[in-house]
Amino acid sequence: MVSDTIAAIATAVGEASISVIRVSGPEAVAEVSHIFKGRVPLDQADSHTVHYGHIIDPATGERVEEVLATIMRAPRSFTMEDVIEISSHGGVVAVRRVMDILLQQRIRIAEPGEFTKRAFLNGRIDLSQAEGVIDLIRSKSDRAFSVALKQVEGKLSRQIKPLQQTLIETLAHIEVNIDYPEHDVESFTADLIKNKSAEVMTEIDKLLRTANEGKILREGITTAIVGRPNVGKSSLLNALAHDNRAIVTDIPGTTRDVIEEYVTINNIPLKLLDTAGIRETMDVVEKIGVERSRGAVNDADLLLFVLNSSEPLHEDEIELMEQISGRQVIVILNKIDLPPQLDRSVLLQHFNEQQIVEMSVKDDQGVDRLEQAISSLFFGGKLEANDVTYVSNVRHIGLLKQAKRSLQDAYEAADQLIPIDMIQIDVRLAWEQLGEIIGDSAPDSLIDQIFSQFCLGK
Ligand code: GDP
Ligand code: ZN
Repeated sequence: MVSDTIAAIATAVGEASISVIRVSGPEAVAEVSHIFKGRVPLDQADSHTVHYGHIIDPATGERVEEVLATIMRAPRSFTMEDVIEISSHGGVVAVRRVMDILLQQRIRIAEPGEFTKRAFLNGRIDLSQAEGVIDLIRSKSDRAFSVALKQVEGKLSRQIKPLQQTLIETLAHIEVNIDYPEHDVESFTADLIKNKSAEVMTEIDKLLRTANEGKILREGITTAIVGRPNVGKSSLLNALAHDNRAIVTDIPGTTRDVIEEYVTINNIPLKLLDTAGIRETMDVVEKIGVERSRGAVNDADLLLFVLNSSEPLHEDEIELMEQISGRQVIVILNKIDLPPQLDRSVLLQHFNEQQIVEMSVKDDQGVDRLEQAISSLFFGGKLEANDVTYVSNVRHIGLLKQAKRSLQDAYEAADQLIPIDMIQIDVRLAWEQLGEIIGDSAPDSLIDQIFSQFCLGK
């Protein structure tokens, strides 16, 4: 595949101690050699070596920047093309100067995701791995990061490919049967289709079972803290944010006035949300009344309903309880360091024991119980061990479901001894749908759309 040579700043632009510019393409070595002066000329350097030197302005001969150049020759690079990575001093000015010189050569600026796209087009990674790279960049918790990393490493592809293989073998068998139709072969083929479809459906089910958890780990549990004034909502928020290193990210696509703050309780990422700023909106109930808080409450996957255990229940609280029963709720009985006044029996009319967590935010007690309560609501007790492949991408989940439906159709058709060539269509469809996950049969428009989500320099 013929392609031109591209460059982009690979590190975040801003104040940093170093910045890296990545150059990739057939002309990378030749073009960077023109403007790099070091002990060894770059075009004579071995692959996977690092060279100290200077970027020179070829027009004036002036030294522009002191750099380290790392050379990785095709195909042993991320893009499978010749790649040079130039580490320069951090700061916008230094990097821009080097970029300017590079772009005066036969090098153009890369589009967002273009390096990863080349890695995909050159067969270095498949589509699900590329999508894992996006997730990796965006991941908001250690756990989400490790889910994404597994995908980048190709774990999902390694599970999809054997399923495709099974289907291809089945298709080959059907093909033979169409060419040599004999009655006994036909019923044998119908059985084979049923067995193989069932086998693949079971595997798809296993993958789909992780989907809900995967999605939660990837996106966080959208959580709203609700309760009357003074029960300790702000204190809880602060405690969660402090103890659990809040990772604040700006996610493309969210409206400007929606603020989302990410905290993790042990391994569980919570996306605390609301509209006008966390501090105010978590107190939404006290500020604007129960009525107006409904928007935030409706959008949440999880409600943390905070009560002061040292006071009797208030009628507002009983009303709120009725509104939210049936939702995923954890009732936080706060201030257990004070003498208890609250009648639990009323709570137990709406919630079960597992949903009720006693805490003293002031004394830093009960966060572990909160975590336990959340895992039992969302993960059926505990998070799976780390080696589970979580299917977290909505696109993948959709395709797995479609493939399963196609196989279900094939199974039923085979069961009813419908002509084999009709069944073949469903099996082939399932094969294609699985292929679309890893990009074998993904249309160009989809590929463009996926790579357009990347940031510059990736
Ligand atoms: P909010 O109005 O629901 O946000 O409540 P705040 O977080 O502002 O807390 C109200 C008051 O309760 C503050 O004075 C907190 O210090 C206090 N408070 C919060 N949690 C506890 C707790 O666990 N025990 C005790 N004794 N006081 C607490
Ligand atoms: Zn408050």
